[in-house]
This record gives sequence, C-alpha cells and structure tokens, in this order.
Amino acid sequence: MPSDSMHCLFDSRTIAARVSELGAAIDHAYSRAQAPLVAVCVLKGAFVFFADLIRQMQTPLELDFVRLASYGQQTTRQEKVHFSKDIEVSVQGKHVLIVEDIVDTGHTLAYLKQVFQARRPSSIAVCSLIHKTGRREIDLPVDFYGFALDKGFVVGYGLDCAEAYRQLDAIYELTEPASAPRG
Ligand code: 5GP
Repeated sequence: MPSDSMHCLFDSRTIAARVSELGAAIDHAYSRAQAPLVAVCVLKGAFVFFADLIRQMQTPLELDFVRLASYGQQTTRQEKVHFSKDIEVSVQGKHVLIVEDIVDTGHTLAYLKQVFQARRPSSIAVCSLIHKTGRREIDLPVDFYGFALDKGFVVGYGLDCAEAYRQLDAIYELTEPASAPRG
C-alpha cells in the first residue's frame, strides 16, 4: 500500500504506455543487428521493468541477471562495487543491453560497462527506467530511458526503500525526507 509520505509520479497506465514505446524503440535499434542480443537485468530494482520490457520486444534475445553489492566505506566509490551475482551466458561477440532501474550518479553504470566491455561484446547499450540527472558524477550515455527526473527518491514498480514498496504497480516519490535515504 502507498503511504501518506509519497505521491504518485507515474501511474501504471503511463508506465505501460512508455514501456511499450521503449520496446519498439529498442526493436528498431537492433533491427539490423547481425549478432545476438543479450538483455541483462540489474537486480533487484529493475526486475519488474525488465519483465515488462522484454515482453514488449520482438527482437529475439537471451536474458540474464546481475546483482551488485558494495564493500565498506574506506575505498573509493567505484572500488566498492562488485557482482554478488554474475551473468551465466557469454556476451562475447553479442550485443549487450543493460537494463537498469535508475541511473543516478552514474557510478553503477560505469562499473557495469567496464566489466562487460572486458568480455568483448559486439556492443553495449543501456536502458534505464529512470534517468536521474541532478546528481550525475559520471557522464555516460543512457541510450534508452523511460522517464527523466532531476531529483527526488522514488519507489514502486520494483524500486524499494529498505526493501519496501517494490510490489507497487506505480512509481511514487517519497515526500518524507526521513524515509528517503538517497536522492
Ligand atoms: P548510481 O550508481 O547511478 O548513483 O546509483 C544507481 C542505483 O542507486 C540505482 O540502481 C538504485 O538502486 C539506487 N537509486 C538511486 N536513486 C534512487 C531512487 O530514487 N530510488 C531508489 N529506490 N533507488 C535509487
């Protein structure tokens, strides 16, 4: 259930319409691709978006999942990130589409691209549900995105706050600062 400390930014119909457009745009982009496509879902936040997006696409694809975890605070931000779950398919010579929930500072995406690049894919593209621009520290292209936001902390449609709210079918902004740990 949504609470009083959040307001709806994008309802389920708006999301469905946008995801359908994204699926068509991605299909168009890969319509002449010679190599196979691997869609990689970044757990946990992107799982709902990913499930809807791939079902709006006609391009044949393999899919797989990664999960990121962080080390302690002594090291630099980029060194902190590692995979707690890696993909199992090979991406060598294939097109990789990384499906993220939110690109915020850009550090997570930079790490993902660096790791996948080393595996010699044919190409790497990024599709993010939310393209958050206000705190960007690493300027990497987000090839496809659902919605652009400047700031704020959002939950629902797979996105959490301390593991709550993932099952909501709409995207909400938390309006109570105490319940918004980031953003
Ligand atoms: P970045 O490395 O780009 O700063 O962080 C991206 C990750 O931070 C996202 O994948 C997401 O897990 C988390 N994040 C950033 N902003 C938000 C937000 O507004 N809501 C939620 N639920 N997670 C966020």
